[in-house]
Amino acid sequence: TPQIGVLALQGAVAEHERALRATGAEVRKVRRPSELEGLDGLVVPGGESTAMARLAAPVHLMPAIRQRLDDGMAVLGTCAGLILAADTVSDAEALKGFERIRGLGVVVRRNAYGSQLNSFEDHLDVDGLDSPLPAVFIRAPIIEDITSADVEVLAESHGNPVAVRQGKILAASFHPELTPDFRLHQLFTDLSSE
Ligand code: GLN
Repeated sequence: TPQIGVLALQGAVAEHERALRATGAEVRKVRRPSELEGLDGLVVPGGESTAMARLAAPVHLMPAIRQRLDDGMAVLGTCAGLILAADTVSDAEALKGFERIRGLGVVVRRNAYGSQLNSFEDHLDVDGLDSPLPAVFIRAPIIEDITSADVEVLAESHGNPVAVRQGKILAASFHPELTPDFRLHQLFTDLSSE
């Protein structure tokens, strides 16, 4: 049985736990580096990236996650989790001085869908899924640029990439845990088991 953690500092934790259990994974919360031990995958949920970075700082949880990622653990970053996994945040002021995971070769801008599209829903054609996936965007980051040739775009919305994969990192700018369609979580559980 795949062992999957959910970073539980802040944000949409319970919803991810439920979705992951539905995919057959054994799930536990992660708040400190020792709790990463033995995990095949870790979900970094949506919420507020600045709050998560601040809460992770005293125990250096972000570099510990990066270390485990480099050792083969899979990471799913959604919304704020995408921001924490991105190599570059273009409006980095609010995150300045805080460790992040990094490793995903994209440039993201926080809250980029702005006033006209603050929160919205879409149905996405996702590579690897045979019918559209409902997606809820909440003050979502935008993927402005892709900086690694290893990044695959799995889905787009309004002309921008919104789901990407690079090796064992899967990331989405939307909230796959807020809809009852858990196919993205299934892809992640499968990726974690590889
Ligand atoms: N705006 C949030 C941030 O910058 C992300 C929003 C979300 O996760 N729903 O972290």
